[in-house]
Amino acid sequence: GSNSVLNFGAGPAKLPREVLLEVQGELLNYQNMGMSIMEMSHRSPEYSKINADAQKAVRELMNVPDNYRVLFIQGGGTGAFAAVAMNLLNRTGSADYLVTGTWSRKAAKEARKYGNVKLVFPEPELGTIPDQSTWTFDPEASYVYYCANETVDGVEFGFIPETHDVPLIADMSSSIMTKEIDVKKFGVIIAGAQKNIGPAGVTVIIVRDDLLGNPMTICPSILDFTHISKENSVHNTPATFSVYVMNKVFDWIKRNGGVKEMEKQANEKSKLLYDTIDNSDGFYYCPISEECRSRMNVPFRVGFNKGNVALEAEFLDHALKYNMHQLKGHRSVGGMRASLYNAVTLEDVQALVKYMKEFQKEKA
Ligand code: PMP
Repeated sequence: GSNSVLNFGAGPAKLPREVLLEVQGELLNYQNMGMSIMEMSHRSPEYSKINADAQKAVRELMNVPDNYRVLFIQGGGTGAFAAVAMNLLNRTGSADYLVTGTWSRKAAKEARKYGNVKLVFPEPELGTIPDQSTWTFDPEASYVYYCANETVDGVEFGFIPETHDVPLIADMSSSIMTKEIDVKKFGVIIAGAQKNIGPAGVTVIIVRDDLLGNPMTICPSILDFTHISKENSVHNTPATFSVYVMNKVFDWIKRNGGVKEMEKQANEKSKLLYDTIDNSDGFYYCPISEECRSRMNVPFRVGFNKGNVALEAEFLDHALKYNMHQLKGHRSVGGMRASLYNAVTLEDVQALVKYMKEFQKEKA
């Protein structure tokens, strides 16, 4: 529609317009039931189908092997931080964490409530990931945890950490279904939906079978992977509307070439923006080392000498005139941040870089 804006928000983030239109079309009368999906039982045949279809779509889109379960829980990414610890720490009482930014730091802090947490390397300088040769693992760790894409800091792993036989746990809240991955390499994948695959309210958990069955006794049933798996993610009332919309996003990804195509577009979109920043003669500046620059969240400063706060305010203000929204960086890091999730198109990014070039011309 003509009233849409360009939305570069970090999450909740832009959803495909086609999906929103479908939701709108079905809102008052889902499949001729005379009511919306929001008003139906989570045990109805209609919701049961959505639940099954969405699980199947995750399997198809990510090529999930048979010995993994796909679960939908509530509590967001943050709930999953606690869930990971309570479901997996029991084996040895200790876990290894790779802290590379805001979200892995928070996950480590949450896990410390439930057991021993060791850091695989001292917290690195912002925008870097220490070389794998310098990492130290605890052979007694129940698992190794990392955040595949640090949404706030703009740091993304370009590789999967090698942990040998220790289960690897990944937070993919801001990168799920943006890159083809080998699920076999992971013990558990957690991902809040609200960036690349749906609205807030549902978190996808992909867990290997052999990691089920040993939760801590204090683990609440709503975060207990074993229990939720047995109950097929309808142990209690799920966020039915969120799962319904997420399932539509899965269909949209399938229609648009699957994860392979999302990856191709993510590479193209982020390259265009980073190239614009790097070729601006220092007017724009990205503080992240090239090898770990995020394809999803691009933090940058505006103005020579690594940023000028007054100019940044003006940049945001002018952006609004071009209908470009949610470009302000996270409050903890300042500057700008453009998030380029699956629903953000190459044309959206082309419009952004066009604006950036014009702004530079005007101010430099
Ligand atoms: N992990 C990552 C990578 C995130 O980006 C976020 C949210 N921005 C979270 C975890 C926390 O998610 P939630 O707000 O759903 O708890």
